Amino acid sequence: MRFTTLSGVEDERIYAGLGRYKRVLDGKERARFLLSRESGRLAGKIKEARRILGRCELCERKCGVNRTDGETSFCGVADEPRVFGAHAHFGEEPELVPSATLFFSGCTMRCVYCQNAPESTDYESGAVWDPERIADWIGQMADHGCRNVNFVGGDPTPNLPWILEALDKVDANIPVVWNSNSYYSEKTADLLKGVVDVYLLDFRYFNETCAVRLSSAPDYPAVAKRNFLTAGKDAELLIRILVMPNHMKCDAKPVIGWVRENLGPGTRTNILAQYRPCWNAGKHRDIDTPLSFSDHEEAVSYAKSAGLENLV
Ligand code: SF4
Repeated sequence: MRFTTLSGVEDERIYAGLGRYKRVLDGKERARFLLSRESGRLAGKIKEARRILGRCELCERKCGVNRTDGETSFCGVADEPRVFGAHAHFGEEPELVPSATLFFSGCTMRCVYCQNAPESTDYESGAVWDPERIADWIGQMADHGCRNVNFVGGDPTPNLPWILEALDKVDANIPVVWNSNSYYSEKTADLLKGVVDVYLLDFRYFNETCAVRLSSAPDYPAVAKRNFLTAGKDAELLIRILVMPNHMKCDAKPVIGWVRENLGPGTRTNILAQYRPCWNAGKHRDIDTPLSFSDHEEAVSYAKSAGLENLV
């Protein structure tokens, strides 16, 4: 069976800002991990990623635990990757579907409203997938017509060494989508350079207090800004802004303004309407309600008036 796009007919405008990604889909360019492998850089990245595991600082927590010995810390991920979901995803942005999406167990943040919890945060919930299995699956999904491989979680960051090892074994010309909460370290950002085709990054908070209270993520705004600037220089970018009730002034609007100011008006941006109070959100009165239609409309109008042109 081969998957296709939802309608079978596409509006080319959905690729604005993602021109290289489209050329890979059309077979006119090659996915960046293939180029990285041919140049020998991918092998060096795999070696460096394995080294970092011995004193882990893949995410901004920089715990320093020796994961090669099975030690764990906040994310719960030990010395092998676990996966709690793997399928062709039709719910992503239109230019991405069908997207071969791999959900890794374990996460570097603890968002009280997580829609994938508890599986996303419980490392033990997933089955072990070694790099060979991941690579085989990517090849099969490419054969079925998936347009990219989409590494998510939880968060993919703690699993980067095995993701790189898997890509070293993939021959399909399939773009890599790095689908992250944006809370990764500079070292991870360096490892991703030249490998990722599309950075699909959340920008959750502009306010530090909100980030700590709702996601246990100190320094999140500064870390996210740094990673957005780095990612935007390295490859194509698709930003997801999660609008939460009662967080328009402290988070959504300043995030929109920052994106316009620092990444440019053409940056492809998805103002998400999907917020609903999952998992432990009921313990927080400000976010214990779904996002209203009018709040979402307000955020979209604000983005348009701020000059963002390329909205999903
Ligand atoms: S990925 Fe982050 S949370 Fe997990 S062990 Fe490494 S530094 Fe700590």
